[in-house]
Amino acid sequence: MVKSPEEEHPQKAFGWAARDPSGTLSPFHFSRRENGDEDVTVKILYCGVCHSDLHSVKNEWGITRYPIVPGHEIVGIVIQLGNNVKKFKRGDRVGVGVLVGSCKTCETCQQDLENYCPSMIFTYNSTSQDGTRTYGGYSDIVVVDQRYVLRIPDNMPLDAGAPLLCAGITVYSPMKYYGMTEPGKHLGVAGLGGLGHVAVKLGKAFGLKVTVISTSPNKEDEAINKLGADCFLLSTNPEKVQAALGTMDYIIDTVSAIHSLGPLLAMLKLNGKLITVGLPDKPLELPIFPLVMGRKLIGGSDIGGIKETQEMLDFCAKHNITADIELIQMDYINTAMKRLSKSDVKYRFVIDVANSLSQ
Ligand code: NAP
Ligand code: ZN
Repeated sequence: MVKSPEEEHPQKAFGWAARDPSGTLSPFHFSRRENGDEDVTVKILYCGVCHSDLHSVKNEWGITRYPIVPGHEIVGIVIQLGNNVKKFKRGDRVGVGVLVGSCKTCETCQQDLENYCPSMIFTYNSTSQDGTRTYGGYSDIVVVDQRYVLRIPDNMPLDAGAPLLCAGITVYSPMKYYGMTEPGKHLGVAGLGGLGHVAVKLGKAFGLKVTVISTSPNKEDEAINKLGADCFLLSTNPEKVQAALGTMDYIIDTVSAIHSLGPLLAMLKLNGKLITVGLPDKPLELPIFPLVMGRKLIGGSDIGGIKETQEMLDFCAKHNITADIELIQMDYINTAMKRLSKSDVKYRFVIDVANSLSQ
């Protein structure tokens, strides 16, 4: 007989789940597996609210299985360790991002690119090795194989550091891989949300000139004066777009909804690179002319491997980079999701899980 989420494992767990495509989240009792030899059990303190959580609870990608407990920007404290765990001890400050498992043996895993392993296990809405569902960080505890657990640097605040586990690595990894780090080059960041605002900060740390390409005029002042961008381009203003054509070396596109790639491609210089990380629910059109007429490149990227995620956290700690967050209580999550759907967050909601998840 199939066991209920509450009975399938020995450790009791509690979180908030969506039960249907309305995406409305509400309290949910479930369970976590026993801490195995390779496992670390983490008491969750904070969890960021990624737009992927919103796509998922509403089943916008068509792959959601309910009930779903979202959350893959998890930080907390180690409370239990398996016999083979040597790199962590009780009380350590740790993070868990988008992936909690992979085959460990394929070519991509061996190159520390577990994020591209065909058997990658996502932190939520995925199937664990034991056949049970994975549940994410809008919950009190999580049990994770040590290989997928990150160390949060000592000087990094846990709440504002949490979004780096997804938003941070998702923009850091392509910037490194596609060579978008040459000081003095011009980076455009399309979409100033969770991913975009971290991309601005990373771009500045790499020594780039950074232009924010945004649909929200109310973000201009902060983009320049708080986040450190050099320029702000309102993408709904045709004159501004016209003036920016052919000026950028790279663009990272973090937009979460259907949008036109034509203007972005046209903003690139010869040999420019447009790297897309946003995951709209429908395919985008590819305008061939601006791509071909300037030997431009379009690429994609999916989060990053565990080794690179640690490298990114250490880089951010060194450069004092964290997310700008709105710290919320668990029972604000449905309002937060509504605001996120309207791009109304500066710039990442983070749930104060340990202080607000009361049963
Ligand atoms: P977010 O905080 O909601 O930011 C997305 C931004 O896109 C918004 O703030 C808004 O910026 C812009 N935008 C929204 N709707 C738009 C529209 N119709 N036209 C133009 N611009 C629009 O989301 P996020 O958490 O940063 O995530 C962004 C996307 O990346 C999501 O699709 C998410 O699923 C995906 N993602 C991908 C990966 C990966 O590994 N590839 C990892 C994490 C997330 P402005 O207000 O500045 O216009
Ligand atoms: Zn995410």
